[in-house]
Amino acid sequence: MKRVLYIAQADKDNKLSQTSLEALTAAKQLADSVSASLAIGLVGENIQELAASLSDASSEIAIVDGPEFSSSRYATDAAALEALVKQTAPSVVVAPATFRMNRVLPGVAHRAGGHIDTHVNGFSTENKELIVTRWYYRQRLLAEQTQSKEPWFLTIDAGLYPAFVPGPGKAAVKTIDVDVDQKWLRTTVKEVKSPAGAANTVKPDADLLFVSGAGWTKRQQDGSTHVDDATGIIAEFLQKTGASLGSTKSLVDLSGEGQQALPFLTNLNQVGQTGSTPRHPKGLATACHGEEPHAVGWRFIKERRAINLDPNCGWAQGKADVLYIADAFKVMKKVNELLD
Ligand SMILES: Cc1cc2nc3c(=O)[nH]c(=O)nc-3n(C[C@H](O)[C@H](O)[C@H](O)COP(=O)(O)OP(=O)(O)OC[C@H]3O[C@@H](n4cnc5c(N)ncnc54)[C@H](O)[C@@H]3O)c2cc1C
Repeated sequence: MKRVLYIAQADKDNKLSQTSLEALTAAKQLADSVSASLAIGLVGENIQELAASLSDASSEIAIVDGPEFSSSRYATDAAALEALVKQTAPSVVVAPATFRMNRVLPGVAHRAGGHIDTHVNGFSTENKELIVTRWYYRQRLLAEQTQSKEPWFLTIDAGLYPAFVPGPGKAAVKTIDVDVDQKWLRTTVKEVKSPAGAANTVKPDADLLFVSGAGWTKRQQDGSTHVDDATGIIAEFLQKTGASLGSTKSLVDLSGEGQQALPFLTNLNQVGQTGSTPRHPKGLATACHGEEPHAVGWRFIKERRAINLDPNCGWAQGKADVLYIADAFKVMKKVNELLD
């Protein structure tokens, strides 16, 4: 392997996302481990300064810069990335597994006559041959893969590598011109909408995942439900801690069916087999039973705690490090007080 190319798209505010900076660390580690050169290619608008700030990773930096490339659009993203790949002629292309990148990169790999594997979570080398690892079947099987076709495109999942820290820029940045065909611009981004009626509650970078289960909406010891109370307690906890909000399928489904449930939950909050598999250092499950289809989504949560009234709930079957047999309403009210 002679050359590794790192590619990413800049955000609207001319920065690289956390996931993009992590993928840059991965690209650098990969290039160093096989003594290959590392080139960097960025796409965005007014990104000269951003590109130069990555000088500590590579002195070979190219950009496709212009208003047409500022937001996510398949046609312009594909053309820009294709141009960067063509001028670098890499053996391996490393990119962050963001929504924007995962959507466009398979098409770019096809145009470049290469091969792509998305959601890669690690790599090693054996006799200078690159071996990448990725999960299959909802994180149940871990596969090691090699590939002879070049360029080999890899998108790296979030939360696996430390983020690269940009420095004062010193490298010369080369601008690649891409002739924009007007028909590429038929799609425009008019507005970005957050989940209905609430601040964005899914925060991949948060230290804590707070999971709310359907128990918050069930009849309690006094024979009544207390959904408004639950909403207030959870919202206060999230606001005070900045935790990311996860949910069980049961609770998300209740909201979708129009039953009284927590107003700020959407399908995006669902953790589990048919939901997400977030990565956070800590997790706290509240009024959630901890059944396997839900708990499988906790695979990458390092320290797990749960609060449940039922001492025989799923979390008690070896799925949590600490299980508090207690009323989540009382515990979380007290926690909120202590956070003051
Ligand atoms: C194919 C398939 C895919 C699925 N995928 C997913 C998935 O991706 N994600 C997912 O979450 N589920 C998934 N499920 C559903 C899953 O099996 C469970 O039904 C679901 O996780 C249960 O949600 P829950 O724990 O919130 O609700 P419940 O099972 O109703 O549990 C509520 C819990 O709250 C506790 N409780 C009640 N009041 C309090 C209180 N005051 N204090 C403390 N505890 C209290 C109760 O003791 C109980 O344990 C899937 C199921 C199938 C069949």
